[in-house]
Amino acid sequence: MMEAKRLPEEYGSLVFGDKVMRERLPKDVYKAVHKTIVNGTHLEIDVANTVAAVMKEWAIENGATHYTHWFQPMTGLTAEKHDSFISPEGDGSIIMEFSGKELVKGEPDASSFPSGGLRATFEARGYTAWDPSSPAFIKDGSLYIPTAFCSYGGEALDKKTPLLRSMEALSKEAVKIMNILGYKDVSRVNTTIGSEQEYFLIDKEDYMHRKDLLFTGRTLIGAPATKGQEMEDHYFGVIKPKVSAFMHDLDEELWKLGIPAKTKHNEVAPAQHEMAPVFETANIAVDHNQLTMEVMKKVADKHGYACLLHEKPFEGINGSGKHNNWSICTDTGINLLDPGKNPDDNIPFLVTLIAVIASVDEYAPQLRLSVASAGNDHRLGANEAPPAVISIFVGDELTRVLESIEQGTVFERGAKIKMEMGAQVLPHITKDNTDRNRTSPFAFTGNKFEFRMPGSAVSVANANIVLNTAVAEMFSRMSAILEGLSEDELHNKLTELLKETLIKHKRVLFDGNGYTDEWIEEAARRGLPNLKSLPDAMVEWISDKSIELFTSHNIFTKEEIESRYEIQLENYSKSIHIESLTMQEMVRKDLTSGILAYENDLTNEIISKKEALPDAKATLEQGILRTLDDASSSIAKELSVLNEKTIEAETITDPQKKAKFYESNVLSQMDELRKYADEAEAVIPDEYLSYPTYGQLLFSLR
Ligand code: ADP
Ligand code: MG
Repeated sequence: MMEAKRLPEEYGSLVFGDKVMRERLPKDVYKAVHKTIVNGTHLEIDVANTVAAVMKEWAIENGATHYTHWFQPMTGLTAEKHDSFISPEGDGSIIMEFSGKELVKGEPDASSFPSGGLRATFEARGYTAWDPSSPAFIKDGSLYIPTAFCSYGGEALDKKTPLLRSMEALSKEAVKIMNILGYKDVSRVNTTIGSEQEYFLIDKEDYMHRKDLLFTGRTLIGAPATKGQEMEDHYFGVIKPKVSAFMHDLDEELWKLGIPAKTKHNEVAPAQHEMAPVFETANIAVDHNQLTMEVMKKVADKHGYACLLHEKPFEGINGSGKHNNWSICTDTGINLLDPGKNPDDNIPFLVTLIAVIASVDEYAPQLRLSVASAGNDHRLGANEAPPAVISIFVGDELTRVLESIEQGTVFERGAKIKMEMGAQVLPHITKDNTDRNRTSPFAFTGNKFEFRMPGSAVSVANANIVLNTAVAEMFSRMSAILEGLSEDELHNKLTELLKETLIKHKRVLFDGNGYTDEWIEEAARRGLPNLKSLPDAMVEWISDKSIELFTSHNIFTKEEIESRYEIQLENYSKSIHIESLTMQEMVRKDLTSGILAYENDLTNEIISKKEALPDAKATLEQGILRTLDDASSSIAKELSVLNEKTIEAETITDPQKKAKFYESNVLSQMDELRKYADEAEAVIPDEYLSYPTYGQLLFSLR
């Protein structure tokens, strides 16, 4: 275990970050790289050559024999292909080599990555390009170089490229409007993200015995345990010693990789936990979140656990999310979402706040889509997670500020309220000006917005691509109206613009309980979209409006948008296809063998009991046998329907129709089958089942 006092040295020890570069690179090279990182400028090849040489030395000193370009294809996972540094000399000896060219560019075969029809099969070549703004690091004996991934034709095949494009677009438009508003020294704006990661830990042996968890990440059958989360005794509860050891190890592994793990606690559901890092620049935060998920799984394995990152591993128990805390900060140090002491006359804040409100309202479908997946569909709209309707919570004080803007009245400032807790010994603390609203999908939380819809398994890249682009669009519209005005005109026009924008978009503001049916009805009256499932929602992704938004800010080309449409629908259909096959197999083999064994024992028991005791009633045994017989005949029927529907689904070629069929025919049929499977399972003793039950999975952690 790492000594606490050594943490400052150990932190980031496996990262080729600013500190190492400053120490090891020649001054002019360091300056050039630093400029590239901070200003996003282009890097020359001779600089890359020097960086590569120094990087190699450092990597070898730290035990690396290989390097890999590390990228994020549309699978939602990360990809890597390792090359060693060795270069044979011809006399049987080797030297270790790594050139600037190898650092800057890789050429992986792209043909086996999802491309959504972007690439003809004969154009198999793909390129990876070094992202110097996200630091390289060492893992498992290799030097990892974060890269973007594109096709031979230059189309993005990954999540990093559009994310970087969206950060640039937002920066450009934010700088423009800040300059217009008089903040002339702002020349760049940084997007920051802190993504809280929820996860489940279960026993590794248990995990290995469940095909559904192994193949699909979620349980497809399983009667509920007699205890669930109703006692609310897990949230922030005492962390069990073994789990605590895991968390400690996880922190250390993350710290070594320069990932600023900060907060850890038990979550609401049994066996559910959370880790939150300190926020970082968006693309680094996204890379770090991808790494975090990987490290969580690896460390869990070492501790005899399996880490579940699926959005809904268990029926009837809360699923897992990944809250995306998002803000924007200027290079002059202003957090544009910090209301400060007097939000009512903090112009950069108000302009940004209202631009965010407008963009979230106007591009709600795109935002909803950025978090859509087969897994997350189980979570959104369930009564534990935000609804599929997007609304914004801003809290009391800001609501009043916004009202005064809308009505053109003067905002009455309240004094900071001191809290009186009624006991002398307790310190007096001041109240924050916004309360928390845990049911809002998009909540203002003091100096940032927290987007709560992303699921635990997805990359947060998509959500931030949409958010950055939509806000860039609103800034750009505002700039177009305010540009070139005199100071007086500017003031009047701005007042008018903020008021109009608010009136147009205030329907998206909602401070109440987002989990109620009343809100869903109210949202419908307000005309807010409620896109419940991925197949329904996807259509919005290729709407004219969507294409206009992304192409006008150079985030995606039309072809890239269409390819992503296909990939997302295909992923959805494939996920449910695998789930259906897995469920069929588990029911047909694992559950059925349990039913048969227990039925057999019950039958023998009844027969021998009646032999021994001619007037024996055997009511209990017969009752259970009857339940099993009824359930199993229903299982037989539903299983064959599921089989037929799944075969039919595979014959559909249109990706949207196919996904829709999977949703309304296959997924719903899986629910039917599950009802009877769970009925049977509920009366079978654990030892007859070849897989662990919910009770075992959720309550056996030490
Ligand atoms: P909670 O939402 O659970 O109450 P916190 O308020 O402590 O938790 O913060 C949640 C996350 O928000 C953390 O990951 C934190 O780093 C991040 N965060 C704080 N400030 C910002 C910011 N300006 N930009 C982006 N993320 C931020
Ligand atoms: Mg939070």
